[in-house]
Amino acid sequence: MTTSTGFGSQSARLCSLEADRADLYGGPNVVVPPKYLMAPSGDGDFIPSVKKTKNHEEAVFSEEEYFQTDTPLSTPPMTTSNDFALAFDIDGVLLRGGNPIPEAVDAMKYINGENPFGMRVPYIFLTNGGGKTEQERCEDLTRQLGIEVSPGQFICGHTPMREMAERYNTVLVVGGEGEKCRIVAEAYGFKDVITPGDIIKTRPDTAPFRKLTEDEYNNSRTLDLGKTQIEAIFVFADSRDWASDQQIILDCVMSKNGCLDQRSETFDDGPPVFFSHNDVVWSTSHDYSRIGMGALRASLEALYKAVTGKDLKSIAFGKPQIGTFQFATRLLQEWRSESHGINEPPATVYFFGDTPESDVRGTNEYNEIAENEWYSVLVKTGVYQDGTEPRFPPKKICENVYEGVKFAVEREHEKMLNGGRYIDDSAEANKGEVRN
Ligand SMILES: [Mg+2]
Repeated sequence: MTTSTGFGSQSARLCSLEADRADLYGGPNVVVPPKYLMAPSGDGDFIPSVKKTKNHEEAVFSEEEYFQTDTPLSTPPMTTSNDFALAFDIDGVLLRGGNPIPEAVDAMKYINGENPFGMRVPYIFLTNGGGKTEQERCEDLTRQLGIEVSPGQFICGHTPMREMAERYNTVLVVGGEGEKCRIVAEAYGFKDVITPGDIIKTRPDTAPFRKLTEDEYNNSRTLDLGKTQIEAIFVFADSRDWASDQQIILDCVMSKNGCLDQRSETFDDGPPVFFSHNDVVWSTSHDYSRIGMGALRASLEALYKAVTGKDLKSIAFGKPQIGTFQFATRLLQEWRSESHGINEPPATVYFFGDTPESDVRGTNEYNEIAENEWYSVLVKTGVYQDGTEPRFPPKKICENVYEGVKFAVEREHEKMLNGGRYIDDSAEANKGEVRN
């Protein structure tokens, strides 16, 4: 196995990637030894040995071969970091109200090679948001940020719910626009997906003050409630109508085994409720954060308590859950391998987020148990308000994500110059302490 010390490895690899993962900024993908990071390329002929892998045809050559030859390259070699990687939250970091934060576009260019080191850094996106298929969301991001984003580098709040499609047959899916979350759930493999619209269409007095629009009515399905048994409830995305959605979720959890026409005597027989995340607030185009799914969860639990006198035990995915970061670790490993030909895990993963309670907390807690370093960077362009004390302190606070990625790349450069050791810059650490 190659060893890595900062910006490179002990071998150099020239990868010809598949067309759908073509380089965005041109030039070959080369992993170079750190000491040659800024060395100019020369002229001459060199034919490296070629090996085929699942997704790559790689030209492999040693660092001496690579740098002693005068390889004619029409463009300077692009280096890819194999020693560190990046993970981004989206809302409040890259986008606000659906529009890109200006510095985010610069940040994406920077990590795709437009930096003083000519280096590309592998990255993934980890958002609690949802309500669309991963493919659709990636197409949006591609357009918004001016980079190609693949579902292979994207996790949203409901992505882990995919793994539950085998376990439950009939499920109630709540939230999102129109039929979109039903479509997402069916694409995940859920076989029988019911929406609140189906229930209101079948029994309009379920939600006395809610009238379906013509589109909603036409898209909703009529159920045989006597034969319908809801096995689980999934809140995929933010509710568009809290009153009727909460009424329907309450009816389900108070039911006898998920049958809406039967009520449990103990209120202990209802199906489980899963939320795709637990963010109480999130960043939009409004000056102040808006309430989100975590607020719905709190409201639902309070209602359940008021009505039944019992505590509702619901489950949330998303950040800061450790399972979500483990999922991210697997995704990052696959993405680095398939897209960049890197098979060893990164020594450090920098996570950029705007919400201390989910982004920073999750990163810090995962860092405690992960085999590599997870380094939390909090930006000031979203939920976190400058001048306040974050409930969960990050390792680093930056004005915006562009400043954040520059910090990460420069920190890694410094590590390389220090022979693979960081100057510890965490707030708690003693100044100037050096660690491995
Ligand atoms: Mg955010």
